Amino acid sequence: MTRLHRPLPKSIATVSLSGTLPEKMEAAAAIGFDGVEIFESDLLTFDGTPNDIRALALTLGLSITCFQPFRDFEAMPDPQRARNMDRAERKFDVMQALGCELLMVCSNVSPLTINDDARAAADLAEMAERAHRRGLRVCYEALAWGRHVNRWRHAWKIVQEGNHPALGLLVDSFHTLALNDDPSGIADVPADKLFFVQLADAPRLSMDVLSWSRHFRNFPGQGQLPVADFVRAVLASGYRGPLSLEIFNDEFRAAPARLTARDGLRSLLMVEAEAGGTVLPPPPAFDGVEFLEFAVDDEHAIRLGETLRGLGFHHAGRHRSKSVDLFRQGRVNLILNSEPDSAASEHFQFHGPSVCAMALRVDDAAAAIERANGLLCPEWRERIGDGERRIPAVRAPDGTLVYLVQPAPTGRTIYDDDFNLTADTPPDALVTAVDHVAQALPMGRMDNFVLFYHAVFGFAPEQLWEIADPYGLIRSRTMVSPDRSVRLPLNVSESRETATGRFLTTYAGAGVHHIALATDDILRTLERATARGSRLLGIPANYYEDIGAKWGLSDQRIEQLRQHNLLYDQDENGEFLHAYTETFDGRFFFEFVQRIGDYQQYGAANAPVRMAAQAQQRPNR
Ligand code: MG
Ligand code: MG
Repeated sequence: MTRLHRPLPKSIATVSLSGTLPEKMEAAAAIGFDGVEIFESDLLTFDGTPNDIRALALTLGLSITCFQPFRDFEAMPDPQRARNMDRAERKFDVMQALGCELLMVCSNVSPLTINDDARAAADLAEMAERAHRRGLRVCYEALAWGRHVNRWRHAWKIVQEGNHPALGLLVDSFHTLALNDDPSGIADVPADKLFFVQLADAPRLSMDVLSWSRHFRNFPGQGQLPVADFVRAVLASGYRGPLSLEIFNDEFRAAPARLTARDGLRSLLMVEAEAGGTVLPPPPAFDGVEFLEFAVDDEHAIRLGETLRGLGFHHAGRHRSKSVDLFRQGRVNLILNSEPDSAASEHFQFHGPSVCAMALRVDDAAAAIERANGLLCPEWRERIGDGERRIPAVRAPDGTLVYLVQPAPTGRTIYDDDFNLTADTPPDALVTAVDHVAQALPMGRMDNFVLFYHAVFGFAPEQLWEIADPYGLIRSRTMVSPDRSVRLPLNVSESRETATGRFLTTYAGAGVHHIALATDDILRTLERATARGSRLLGIPANYYEDIGAKWGLSDQRIEQLRQHNLLYDQDENGEFLHAYTETFDGRFFFEFVQRIGDYQQYGAANAPVRMAAQAQQRPNR
């Protein structure tokens, strides 16, 4: 990989991770961070001395990049002003014991603080002078909710007025971008006065900025703020200090520290490259889903094969050396893997019949793997047999294999290589392609998956939907490839009783929970499926009364939908018809979809109806 610059050191604030202070530091070091910001409350609750932390940091090879926060310092009236200087001296004692040379002061939020920049500058200069005598430095940050100082330019003006070599500026992407402030001017701050850079992203939410910041920050690439633009301005200044993550997020505080730390480092590597600081190969161009692989045993292979025949698939081949079958329809390839003693059988033991791998068609698999490697996602090397083609793969956060299939220029396919294919393809394919593959995620893991698909593959997150299941709420967000040929709805349930929640319990983890198949003629597709004995999910009659009125559909149209258990949606761009199969072994199901016009959604408005119908089918709760 060529680099434009040496990458900047990577740091993370201990407040971003769960656990005790030593656990947080161990996680950061294990994942590959260069340093940590010590959040004071983490130190206060640590059952040891600052010297212990200094020794641990040394052992772990971590630098302590910053000690924070020092609040309500500048521009106070007396006697608070004098007391604050004493307070600063005590912090300096702690910092020297810690082996940390940089103190972060955030702009004053106290009702007592005086609106006087000259006074603020003088106070900070005096603090910096006291720090300087001990070989320490002070940086000043504008909090978005600071009483008088809440913009980085204002903080920078005060730092300039303070005019002390040990006084510099801290810029934080959240505080800047949350106020829609323009970060481009940071490029003009002299690098030796820009002491520290903190990064955080966040979803766009309408709430007060303090609550937004304290609970909903997330890593760059997980939210909707233009963090890469911010980093571009920082790099343009010539800044060579750490990029440090400072994330207050309730879910991160509950998640395993290493998982969060890995996401954090991945997000920094991604955003630094996006900002032009380093070079990563761009994400590949995608051309849809090449195949889905199911882990099954012999019995489930037979039953799932029957199910697939009912849906219009034909048995297209048997693997040359393994107990693996290929079913095909249109461009859709479904592989049933019942090979004993394989990765698939391991997956089956653990999860039951389930999707264990997904293959995506890409234009450049080698570059895609190089990008993945650069983002802490190493190539996964599956055992292969003699003469089999190795397909490059990475693992999604839930362990699902994601193969990257680059079509050969000769037109020879992976199936030609590995399978004994049946001679002819039946001409009656009504299904054309995989429309979307929906996954159920464990609680609290949405951001984790969003970052994986965004960073590694360049997929973009779509709007977040909150869907009512009869037994709880499901949050759904779809990750889509830029050309929209790969669409992956990700569903998270906060309750174990919802369809998504039950899926996770039954499945012992995350995984594919439905596969939507695109067709240009959904009525014929459903008629054929029914004729072949497929069981479709029954939709309550009340639904049809409702949509008839909602969309002004003709009686004839409504009757047609009702007869086929079809669900209906429309938006300003087109219409959407979809129907579901019954669930296979209570685990996953198929969906037929027909998009008419330029409808780009997934019928989320109908999801509650589907989930209620599925809940009705369950023998008992
Ligand atoms: Mg900050
Ligand atoms: Mg769907």
